Amino acid sequence: TRIRPSSKRCAVIGGSGFLGRHLVEKLLDKGYTVSVFDIRQSYELPGVTFHQGDLCDKQALLTALQGVSLVFHCASPAPASDDKALFQRVNIQGTQAVLQACTEAGVQKVVLTSSASVVFEGTDIKDGREDLPYAKKPIDYYTQTKIEQEKLVLKACDKEKGLLTVAIRPHGIFGPRDPQLVPILVDTARRGKMKFIIGDGSNLVDFTFVDNVVHGHILAAESLRPESPICGKAYHITNDEPVRF
Ligand code: NAD
Repeated sequence: TRIRPSSKRCAVIGGSGFLGRHLVEKLLDKGYTVSVFDIRQSYELPGVTFHQGDLCDKQALLTALQGVSLVFHCASPAPASDDKALFQRVNIQGTQAVLQACTEAGVQKVVLTSSASVVFEGTDIKDGREDLPYAKKPIDYYTQTKIEQEKLVLKACDKEKGLLTVAIRPHGIFGPRDPQLVPILVDTARRGKMKFIIGDGSNLVDFTFVDNVVHGHILAAESLRPESPICGKAYHITNDEPVRF
């Protein structure tokens, strides 16, 4: 038996992670019923059902997606990893499994967490718009697989089949419980490794507060309807001004 998808029932793939958990908490505040699908469970929260599994496993996903109408996909191996096969498996094959499972489970909307680095060619971008082409030479293999992943998700947008997709592209995300950005910066500074400037000190980098990233994801999800111009599109998300670094 298949449970009919309810519009307030969503799943967060990668919901045990930094961004995922903030997203889960905001969705609960907004009255959603939330399932988390992740290879690990990092917390407990009333109202959240945890499904532990690998997103490359379509059967495991199908169990977690029963009755779900909206999926946020914000799982990824850590960008710092140099395990190419892992990026390929999780970000590309895994995303294909996610899309197939969504179609089979009758999910109506998928919001992907992409990355602003998909358009970064190594030179500063200010006020970059979404119509910038994908990077021809991505800065690393993680980014290369984020490009492939975004293309897969946006291409899967199909009004006839009833699956609508959108991608959100943050750059650096900061906020409470950030495991990477600020802790790594502080640690690097403590070890005396921040005494050198690469370039003339005017390189640009963009950081977005995690609540703004979450807000962007939920706005995108709630605006995603068959007649909406956002269907199958990617959106940059930023605070206001980039930081000089
Ligand atoms: P995170 O590492 O805190 O969370 C990622 C989660 O994905 C983890 O809980 C991990 O267990 C889960 N995961 C990894 N492989 C999995 C698999 N095979 N199956 C199921 N779950 C799996 O990372 P984050 O910072 O919260 O990043 C979330 C998303 O945002 C990622 O897609 C990342 O590419 C994107 N992003 C992050 C930043 C940033 O600055 N943090 C910037 C741009 C884009």
